[in-house]
Amino acid sequence: MRTILLNPGPVTLSARVRAALARPDLCHRESEFAMLQDGLRRKLLAVENLDAATWAAVLLTGSGTAAVEAMLVSCVPADGRVLVIENGVYGERMQRICAAYGIDHARVHGGWGEAIDVDAVRAALAAARYTHVAVVHHETTTGRLNDLAALAAVCRDSGARLLVDGVSSFGAETIEFDRWGLDACAATANKCLHGVPGTAFVVLRRAALAAAPARGVYLNLADYLARQDAHGTPFTQSVQTFYALDEALDEFFEAGGRAARHALFTSRMRRIRSHLEQLRVRGMLPAAECSCVLHGFELPAGRTYAVLHDALKARGFIIYAGQGALSEQVFRISAMGDIGEDDLARLETALSDVLA
Ligand SMILES: *Cc1c(COP(=O)(O)O)cnc(C)c1O
Repeated sequence: MRTILLNPGPVTLSARVRAALARPDLCHRESEFAMLQDGLRRKLLAVENLDAATWAAVLLTGSGTAAVEAMLVSCVPADGRVLVIENGVYGERMQRICAAYGIDHARVHGGWGEAIDVDAVRAALAAARYTHVAVVHHETTTGRLNDLAALAAVCRDSGARLLVDGVSSFGAETIEFDRWGLDACAATANKCLHGVPGTAFVVLRRAALAAAPARGVYLNLADYLARQDAHGTPFTQSVQTFYALDEALDEFFEAGGRAARHALFTSRMRRIRSHLEQLRVRGMLPAAECSCVLHGFELPAGRTYAVLHDALKARGFIIYAGQGALSEQVFRISAMGDIGEDDLARLETALSDVLA
């Protein structure tokens, strides 16, 4: 019996993606690597049908946070100012990154699980000059899908550009790069795209990097962009995880692309949520406000997360704890990864066994 990961990345791998890890050894200075990297960059733009004249995908070796950090340090000019929107762990992490690099910023703080207060954002943007607004698309802390369309309208009025942490939404939720006026979106191989951890990337507007100073060496996206456009790389890339992402993207497009993945996750989440509701376990947020990728659920009275986790693990399923103060109150289940109908049926039985 294989263990199914229901945590928000890394995900359960398909046999094809796992097999791709064993492709031939490859030096990152050889033409075969250049072809692999060029292909990945094209396929990543194709996820949202982006025009390569305006947009570029930049590949990094690191986890999702490396891409988020690279995006912030590489896109904000020396005289730039960022309004960071917080309603969970990952928005707060972007604030910590700005603080660590001395990037001028202010925050619109919301509680974990709360919707973004768009009026407060509008007021902040009217009160001072901001070059960028940094926001998490899907706040994995709670499963909330932030309303980027509403936020984008407010940003457009003020001239601020959007920097998006799309780490747990890229490939499953719609991201309107052009219409919403994004400058960049950071994401990773090992969530909605079903690759392995080790490769992260930023999809960015080519013009977005022009004004920023080099705040670092390893996370300097302008350097990566120039070298990758010239079919190279400034540093050793994680070759095997590139292989895996390449295979995962082939699977993704063969299965129908982004819209199909959205439909797949939506139907899985709906099934899991309705089964839990039958067992009297309530969703933390209304389903309509959640991503298709992950929902949070209230721990039933008298159950600890540890007991629930261990009982499900013994039955072959890994669920995920709430973060911080939520760790005593909620558990989370994600729909990503190579999960079959038979696995979902087994999960329902396991949940019934453990929670009834
Ligand atoms: C997973 C995740 C990250 C990155 O986490 P890593 O552990 O660095 O991969 C960043 N933002 C969001 C919204 C995430 O879900």
